[in-house]
Amino acid sequence: TKKYILVNHFEGLPKLSDFKIIEEPLRALKNSEILVEALWISVDPFIRAYTMKLNLGDTVIGYQVAKVIESRHPNFSVNDLVVGYFGWCTRIVIAPESQDDMVSGKVYKLPDIGNLSPSLGLGVLGMPGNTALFGFLEICDPKPGNIVIISGAAGAVGSHVAQIAKHKGCIVIGITGSDEKVKYLLNELKLDAAFNYKTVDLASSLANVAPHGIDCYFDNVGGEISSIIMYQMKPRGRVAVCGSISAYNADARSLPKVSVLQPAIVMKELMVQGFIVTRWQHRWIEGILQNLSYIKEGWLKYQEHVFIGFDKLPEAFIDMLKGGNIGKAVVKV
Ligand code: NDP
Repeated sequence: TKKYILVNHFEGLPKLSDFKIIEEPLRALKNSEILVEALWISVDPFIRAYTMKLNLGDTVIGYQVAKVIESRHPNFSVNDLVVGYFGWCTRIVIAPESQDDMVSGKVYKLPDIGNLSPSLGLGVLGMPGNTALFGFLEICDPKPGNIVIISGAAGAVGSHVAQIAKHKGCIVIGITGSDEKVKYLLNELKLDAAFNYKTVDLASSLANVAPHGIDCYFDNVGGEISSIIMYQMKPRGRVAVCGSISAYNADARSLPKVSVLQPAIVMKELMVQGFIVTRWQHRWIEGILQNLSYIKEGWLKYQEHVFIGFDKLPEAFIDMLKGGNIGKAVVKV
């Protein structure tokens, strides 16, 4: 098997030289184990944050859609497609039950998704899709006519939340990092407004499009973008705090300076709730099937930003952290 190991702990934005490919022989299967081969590997923001916990020399973490090549497990057969937390490797022998999977709980077979690409099991029909579906509906509790704002709006989770919000009859504003992404949000996803946070004055732009305030905020990025938004919420507005990617590459010395949020939270009595998608582990497959039905109904669109080749993993990961992707960033092995 080929695998990527961590050779330096990240400082700031990860560098190609923080990763190294090595080759290792695979061991034989024991009872209740399977051998899988990676088809698609996901590059997700959480890898940036969780890699701190790895030791140098450890395999880089991450999700895969993989094919079962050999099985000594009664529930898995050769050619089954599985989703699992196998890390950045081309092949691995694992015992499905003892997988240390922090998000979906265990290795699972990709539900039947017909002719759709199995890669969607890492995006709209996987962890990011469930994050968008459950996180938005359960925490923001959107009502028709509500004004909803989403940061990181052109990414995997954000673009999905934006479409569910539109489908619920909300007025939807997206915040993103390039003019191309603004166009995508307006023209493809039909958002009501979208702004490039790198070029506009966010506070006055929001005051123009939502002069009476915002009902729901789905926060993917944190930092000053979020502070500005929170001061423009309506009383008792609902905020789902999903991620804070604006600070993932910062260390203690370079943490972004942001406006204090507590006055907005107190005076507007905001309902701010963080969440981790594991909360809905017991509804994992239900979430995937729900999102699949939205695709089949024709209104949930998805885009993938694909890098080709196992050796492109570090490049794809760094590109995603820099905002190179629209939709889900994945690597075809
Ligand atoms: P995306 O597909 O949205 O990719 C990351 C995007 O983040 C980039 O494309 C970039 O877009 C944006 N970004 C990067 N740096 C900054 C910055 N300094 N300020 C603002 N935006 C930035 O990733 P995901 O959809 O997979 O994840 C989105 C968020 O959701 C992340 O924070 C992630 O950690 C979180 N998450 C949380 C989960 C949970 O259980 N709570 C589960 C899954 C994801 P742009 O060009 O717009 O800047």
